[in-house]
Amino acid sequence: MNFGGWLSLTVRLTVALAIGLVLGLIFGVPWAALALVLAIGLAMQWLHLLRLLRWLQADQTELAPELPGPWGHLVAMIVRLYRRKQFHKQRLLRLLRELRRSTAAMPDGVVVLNPQAEILWFNRTAARLLGFRGKTDFGLRIENLVRQPEFVRYLRGGQFATPVIVRSSAGAEQYLSLQIVPYGAGQLLTLVRDVTREARLEAMRKDFVANASHELRSPLTVIAGYLETLTTDGDIDPALAGPLQEMQRQAQRMTSIVQDLIELSRLESSDAEAAHQPIDVVALMAQLRQDVLARPQHPAQVQIRADSNAMLLGEELQIHSAFANLVENAAKYTPADGSVQIRWWVDEDGGHFSVTDTGIGIASEHIPRLTERFYRVDAGRSRATGGSGLGLAIVKHVLQRHGAQLSIDSQEGRGSTFTCHFPSERLRAAMNVASAVAASVQ
Ligand code: ADP
Repeated sequence: MNFGGWLSLTVRLTVALAIGLVLGLIFGVPWAALALVLAIGLAMQWLHLLRLLRWLQADQTELAPELPGPWGHLVAMIVRLYRRKQFHKQRLLRLLRELRRSTAAMPDGVVVLNPQAEILWFNRTAARLLGFRGKTDFGLRIENLVRQPEFVRYLRGGQFATPVIVRSSAGAEQYLSLQIVPYGAGQLLTLVRDVTREARLEAMRKDFVANASHELRSPLTVIAGYLETLTTDGDIDPALAGPLQEMQRQAQRMTSIVQDLIELSRLESSDAEAAHQPIDVVALMAQLRQDVLARPQHPAQVQIRADSNAMLLGEELQIHSAFANLVENAAKYTPADGSVQIRWWVDEDGGHFSVTDTGIGIASEHIPRLTERFYRVDAGRSRATGGSGLGLAIVKHVLQRHGAQLSIDSQEGRGSTFTCHFPSERLRAAMNVASAVAASVQ
């Protein structure tokens, strides 16, 4: 606060009033003289205020009026505030310009969206990859411009942990990876990357595995056939019986690996959602139980518990293969005196199919990797049981295509539970029986 300004104004006013009073007393009109002095003082302040207002309206800081006393002080304060604001504004603008220049030069596309998914800004790469025209596209909803159904589903789904791969609408065999990153108050950043090269390599890998396994199938069938004949041939040198049996076992293992690879390739060849054929899960469970009991070695108890008779809507062959894999694993990794329970139940979250065993169990560090191809906790043991290491990879793929999830709960030495969780849209109540059945077969 500049007291000097206020002080000089007060002193000047007091002196003027004193002079006015003296002159008024001399001429016999003291009140009129005082009123005149006050009116002149007020008019002067009024003039200063007018000049200040004019200056502020003109918005030209450099033409600041020179005013006396507190008015001058006020002008100086306004100028200082204005300069400080200008300084910060310039700094922010510089920063923004640099940010825009760096994002514009990024090899990846960036699209900034508001919470309603309307486009606020995009860089040149995004415009090129997504075919945006320019500023006329600002304000449009992104799904009006990027219409691929996978992206629209991804945007509405709200699960942005992983990107979605879409085919470019540009016509060429181009694939784009789109990932949404939420930030700030509901704003969304969309990152766009050209992944055509990776997609081609992935397609080549899939083709190679599919072709190689198909090509291997015929020669393997011939080898297995001859081995079968040789092992049953009575004239064969007894010293060769052992090696021949081992060869036959290995040929069977190779056949099962090749079959699993072919099945995986078939599952991978299409991203389409699985069909909605009604599957009688209760009947399927009974069949799986029979299959396990038909194995030369199996756990003593294989129980079925069906708490619901709801039908599962899916692709029957795939579901059979996935469930059979889980039941076979339980049987393979559970000793003869152990037990296996197969269960099907429905709750508000959907349908659940689980296989629980009292077998060898799995240490927790292995659980997240079990569904990787060829991943085995104990390769030696798995090989000995004829495992290909592909079973759970097949289960994962089948479930993915049915919008379902696999959860694994296991304790080493105590047993495991593998559960498939199906969404409610994949269920249909059975026609004839309304109430749930609880069947338990020893
Ligand atoms: P594999 O054909 O070798 O059984 P999977 O993909 O079906 O291959 O399973 C991967 C690995 O997970 C197996 O090698 C085994 O170590 C482990 N595993 C799967 N199911 C069970 C189970 N019920 N109990 C213990 N270990 C299991």
